[in-house]
Amino acid sequence: MLAVVKSAPVDGPEGTSVSDCPVPKPGPDEVLIRVAAAAVCGTDKHIYHWDPSIRDKVTPPRIYGHEFCGFVEELGSRAQRTYEGHLEIGDYVSAEMHVVCGECPRCRSGNGHICDRTRIYGLHEDGAFAEFVKVPAANVVKLGRYVPLRVGAFLDALGNAVHATSVCDMAGKSVAITGFGPIGAMAAAIAEHSGATTVIVTDVSDHALETARRWAASHNFANLHAFNVRTMAAEEVKREVDAVTDGDGVDIVLEMSGAPSAINLALDIVRMGGMLSLLGLPAGHSVTINDYTRNVIFKGVTMQGIIGRRMYGTWQRMLALLKSGLNVEWIVQAAYDSLNDFHEGVARFDRHEALKVVFFPEGEKAANQRLK
Ligand SMILES: [Zn+2]
Ligand SMILES: [Zn+2]
Repeated sequence: MLAVVKSAPVDGPEGTSVSDCPVPKPGPDEVLIRVAAAAVCGTDKHIYHWDPSIRDKVTPPRIYGHEFCGFVEELGSRAQRTYEGHLEIGDYVSAEMHVVCGECPRCRSGNGHICDRTRIYGLHEDGAFAEFVKVPAANVVKLGRYVPLRVGAFLDALGNAVHATSVCDMAGKSVAITGFGPIGAMAAAIAEHSGATTVIVTDVSDHALETARRWAASHNFANLHAFNVRTMAAEEVKREVDAVTDGDGVDIVLEMSGAPSAINLALDIVRMGGMLSLLGLPAGHSVTINDYTRNVIFKGVTMQGIIGRRMYGTWQRMLALLKSGLNVEWIVQAAYDSLNDFHEGVARFDRHEALKVVFFPEGEKAANQRLK
């Protein structure tokens, strides 16, 4: 089968090859899935460029890719499930690619998403930029026809956005999203779909803000306010946010950028007793908080770190949102009918020309024909 392999510990095309690999053989508790569509994520970009942040997690040669959907091709001898529907050959599925230990205190208290023994398929084990991928049967999630293949391709990332937006009920609330990359875009769509009255978006790129405005216009959503935090001073942004939130500040901030300035802006614009859902990773790991006394303690804010997806509450909520009409297909802005175009696809993702780039290993048309 054709697969995208991190073949050598170097940056760029020299370190990633699209090559012929053996089809994986599922173990007794595993399922082999024919990949219909797989999406590029920021993590894949780090692997492609061999960034220091992932070097201790990936040992070449490794097939990467962890956002995908596909069709059940083969079941291991013990892989059949008795609950949540039988798995049949040909079933349309995705999978949670964080495989947790199931034994530690976190796992045993229903908090497997913060299991520190998590193994990630597509980093620690072979992943989904391939014609076939094998995953533990327990991690397989069945999908319905209401999930277009282009969306099935990035449920892992959409799950991050759903998890970040699950910290409180957004109906009737004002929501600010700092960073309009792919997950920020998904979060904006979820906020609008969930009944947020006002959505405020900040980014450093006019292109990203323009995308946000186009999305709002296409959904007839009049209450989007988009601010460029590169060209506007933080105090100016705060004044604008106050103006659109009756002088009160924003109810919820979804921090998607990891930029220290954005994290401080988030604390500045959130209202007294507001909520911050923090997903962005700062490049330098550490962040200095300005006026911690006033903006954190005296404000009485709640801050929630977001990692991965709750297993499997986030998946259930995500599928419910999609079933009720959440539209995120527009986030796929580049699609390729072969893994051979991988280098070009990553380059477009790198240049921020597409929020999401999706690959269809056997072509989009052929994959759609397999949908039952
Ligand atoms: Zn990802
Ligand atoms: Zn665990």
